[in-house]
Amino acid sequence: MGFDVDLFVIGGGSGGVRAARVAAAEGGARVALAEESRMGGTCVIRGCVPKKLMVFAAAFGGAIADAREYGWQTAPARFDWSAFRPRLAAELDRLEGVYRGLLARAGVAIHDQRATVEDPHTVRLAGGGRVSARHILVATGGHAVRPAIPGAGLGLVSDDLFGLAALPASILIVGGGYIAVEFATILAGLGVRVTLAYRGAQILRGFDDEARDHVARLVAAQGIAIRVTTEVARLEPDPAGGVRAHLAPGGPETFGAVLFATGRAPRTAGLGLEAAGVALGRRGEVLVDEWSQTAVPSIFAVGDVTDRMALTPVAIREGQAFAETVFKANPVKATQALVATAVFTRPEFGTVGLTEAEAAAAGPVAIYATTFRPMHRAFAGRAEQVLMKLVVCARSRRVLGCHIVADQAGEMIQLAAVAMGMGATKEDFDRAVAVHPTMAEELVTMRNPVRVRG
Ligand code: NDP
Repeated sequence: MGFDVDLFVIGGGSGGVRAARVAAAEGGARVALAEESRMGGTCVIRGCVPKKLMVFAAAFGGAIADAREYGWQTAPARFDWSAFRPRLAAELDRLEGVYRGLLARAGVAIHDQRATVEDPHTVRLAGGGRVSARHILVATGGHAVRPAIPGAGLGLVSDDLFGLAALPASILIVGGGYIAVEFATILAGLGVRVTLAYRGAQILRGFDDEARDHVARLVAAQGIAIRVTTEVARLEPDPAGGVRAHLAPGGPETFGAVLFATGRAPRTAGLGLEAAGVALGRRGEVLVDEWSQTAVPSIFAVGDVTDRMALTPVAIREGQAFAETVFKANPVKATQALVATAVFTRPEFGTVGLTEAEAAAAGPVAIYATTFRPMHRAFAGRAEQVLMKLVVCARSRRVLGCHIVADQAGEMIQLAAVAMGMGATKEDFDRAVAVHPTMAEELVTMRNPVRVRG
């Protein structure tokens, strides 16, 4: 039976674009892609990229203050959101254009509209018309979730932050995960008074406990009020301006804005997947096997919509693996073993492998850790400390986990992940001669464990 296309991709984010490009340019497939919003998806348009640019923007305040300690004469500096925002928007426009260009050059037909699944081989376009496809790839990503409390609509989600008309004077950030903690230090760095309310006992649940405590101390030292074991019961407009949040414990308090960073959910509503026979999980995620294939053999899904690991590089890997397998006769599984990641707080928190608690639960471990004032900060009279930590298997001596809280920790952890992926032992780390003077040299000079467990 003849199909209009070999592949129809729904969603122009990281995973979908990669799959479409590779299938078309390298697999020789006839490919179409539909995107109802802007090309580039969460990462490029309302996530990683604009966030990182805001991280850079936020770092200048401290850098200018430090510059004075290094002998620079500087005039008082003040951040001007109205000067930054159009530049940010222009950069996102540019990147969106780059993504479009990549698809067009690969020969992918772009539909700037919503697409839904009608049956295992048919996609319906919102603007009218149907496209038949040998394969359909669902790469619709996720969306921010507000908690089900009265007045929740008064709160912002991360999508809203990049286009604000003005920065609020104060903000309540609800949540304790990546987005909450990253935006706490970004907004504080840009001059916003930040309160972070988290329902649990310590922010960044799931990460290494010692690193979580360290990050929390550094975040608090920037003047960010962290309120743990705190819930937000409801929001209402404050007649005098701003949003009144009812905190428990704490009572009512007014903030210029409230940000919900309370997690994300797969974007599958109204896509027609279940009617086509695709099974969805409890959170609405598309259920797939290790080949990213759904219960319907012609329909696959990659990226956040599958709720495996909501990270851009993982979605890209999944998209690539799908295209390799289906269009290049090169079977590649989408499963990821060792994924390094960074929380872009100031300073950053880079992490790869097991936490101390996870490793200790599996067997005896030796923990190597150090905290110190990095020289560039110490010179500027800052108390801020770096944390470097290696979790080592006491039997095999393999490095099972690496956790770094430091400026540029995201850059450092990438390289630690290469070594760990090769099965490096603590002795392999130690064999590397230190690069001096750097922060990362501590990773290869920690002689004795601070504790041995198990
Ligand atoms: P996370 O899942 O990381 O964190 C959600 C936070 O909100 C948790 O602290 C959670 O608490 C809390 N929470 C959830 N529901 C409620 C509720 N009803 N009331 C109060 N608090 C609630 O989600 P994020 O939104 O921060 O980020 C989504 C994902 O995006 C991340 O997990 C990550 O995969 C990805 N991401 C990656 C980044 C990076 O690589 N640098 C940056 C940003 C996002 P609890 O811990 O108790 O469950």
